Amino acid sequence: MSGKVYLIGAGPGDPELLTLKAARILADADVVLYDALVTGEVLALVSRSALLIDVGKRAGKKLLTQEEINSLLVSYTAKNRIVVRLKGGDPLLFGRAGEEIEALRSARVEFEIVPGITAAIGAAAGAKISLTDRRVASQVLFTTFSRGETGSWLNWAAVTPETTIAIYMPGTHYSEVADRLVENGLSPETPCVVVSQAARAEQQVRWTSIAALSSEAQLPAPSILLVGRVATQSVAGWGAGINPELLKNSETSDLRLNERKNN
Ligand code: SAH
Repeated sequence: MSGKVYLIGAGPGDPELLTLKAARILADADVVLYDALVTGEVLALVSRSALLIDVGKRAGKKLLTQEEINSLLVSYTAKNRIVVRLKGGDPLLFGRAGEEIEALRSARVEFEIVPGITAAIGAAAGAKISLTDRRVASQVLFTTFSRGETGSWLNWAAVTPETTIAIYMPGTHYSEVADRLVENGLSPETPCVVVSQAARAEQQVRWTSIAALSSEAQLPAPSILLVGRVATQSVAGWGAGINPELLKNSETSDLRLNERKNN
């Protein structure tokens, strides 16, 4: 028998935010490899006869390496019909799906991807803000500053005063995040909102600004930061946002980015 792998997005937490397709496949699964971000309520929808494997990492302690996960996915298809790789949010955003997809392709295993609601979208709903409010925003950037060995690839030249920035994995040092934003041309007055445990019963929403971010108490993980003119309860009442002087010349931004890369 040769089974099929489904890379499924578990959404931000609330099981009602799963797609119908995800719920159907989970109920029918033989093996489910899941991450730390997947909530117990979502796992409760998995077939009782399925083998559940926690491949997540908690507090930096990796349970399995990415290579081990890749080969498990492939090997489980030898004896199982439905093998699920269940990830928090959407599987294709900050979820190492690229590596898994390549491994499945090269092993010629059949696979399918079932999208989920990513944290930024869950958080925007929780905070009740429009990420592309046409009065103040024209684009959304899904990004992170913590990419391990590769560092950040954020192209600051793409950040305009009308950009909403969703920062995944903001870490525990909000002040470092705030410093980087200001260094790269964002005005300290720019609004931002921290959404902790979006779409879960414990959700907390903290309205702040880049300047005030450093003194905010740490909210429980997982949390995401939405930065930009939209990140306020009153978009119409909000002013300038980004220092246009610093953004005027995109070469300057590139230069700074390169300086940092070389350091
Ligand atoms: N694939 C996931 C992201 C994985 S990276 C997605 O699409 O959402 C992990 C980061 O996602 C966390 O550090 C946090 O920044 C964010 N995140 C995931 N679930 C979240 C939630 N329920 N509330 C707030 N942030 C969340």
